[in-house]
Amino acid sequence: VIENRHFLIDCGEGAQMQLSRFQVPVQRIDHILISHLHGDHYLGLMGLLFSMHLLRRTKPLDLYAPHALGPIVTAQLHAAGTALCFPLTFHPLPVGPSQVILETDHIAIETIPLLHRTPTYGFLFREKPKPWRLNKAKLPPDLSWDDRNRLKEGKDLFSDTGQLRYTNRDLTLAPKKSRSYAYCSDTAYNEQLMSRLQGVDLIYHEATFLDEKELQASKTFHSTARQAALIARGAGASRLLLGHFSARYKDLQPLLDEARAVFPATDLAIEGESFTLEE
Ligand SMILES: [Zn+2]
Ligand SMILES: [Zn+2]
Repeated sequence: VIENRHFLIDCGEGAQMQLSRFQVPVQRIDHILISHLHGDHYLGLMGLLFSMHLLRRTKPLDLYAPHALGPIVTAQLHAAGTALCFPLTFHPLPVGPSQVILETDHIAIETIPLLHRTPTYGFLFREKPKPWRLNKAKLPPDLSWDDRNRLKEGKDLFSDTGQLRYTNRDLTLAPKKSRSYAYCSDTAYNEQLMSRLQGVDLIYHEATFLDEKELQASKTFHSTARQAALIARGAGASRLLLGHFSARYKDLQPLLDEARAVFPATDLAIEGESFTLEE
């Protein structure tokens, strides 16, 4: 959730059940981003779209996914004889280097090219610089609406004759922090991510295997927990979330321990948990 916009990234088979279990109203979702077309990342999508339709959604929905998903969605709607009762806009993800796919007044989202067996995209969310905050304790009473807006933009205030009236820094507090989040879906270990994700606040990175299975990880274009931690450390990230664990691991603690040995600020992305980034 950013500025009250709701993003759903990837939509596996159980997504709808989990959304309802954790009481996330599906109609609030404005944007769905699909990283790649392996079943565990998109097979829940059609069910979700049909549910939104049955719930008589009217709000537009934007879907970002590899271009091959477009005809799949169209074919399934056609086969069901369903004309969705809400506007669905499909945005095929641009092949090749990183590109901005969505930009608003508050955020920009760009793709992160990943190394996997099928075209796969990560997503980097960045908040734009925020306004300077008015320091209410110091604000003189004679400020107009325009004056206030100038202060928020970081400008000093001048009189009509060009005399300095107020210095911005005397009346404002520094802007809140612009936060960033990188979602790195299925990928082989890719050191290029370190420079691409430099200074990101929170990285979600897959950690399918323990490092003892490194060979299997590279053969299947997945990563180990240690490799995910190396990426986070190399990027100078603040925090790391691990996910996409192989079903072989009934106990996830060893994955967490392995990553924390390299990058202590690591947590497991457990379903139903929420993580908030401080401003
Ligand atoms: Zn995959
Ligand atoms: Zn997967």
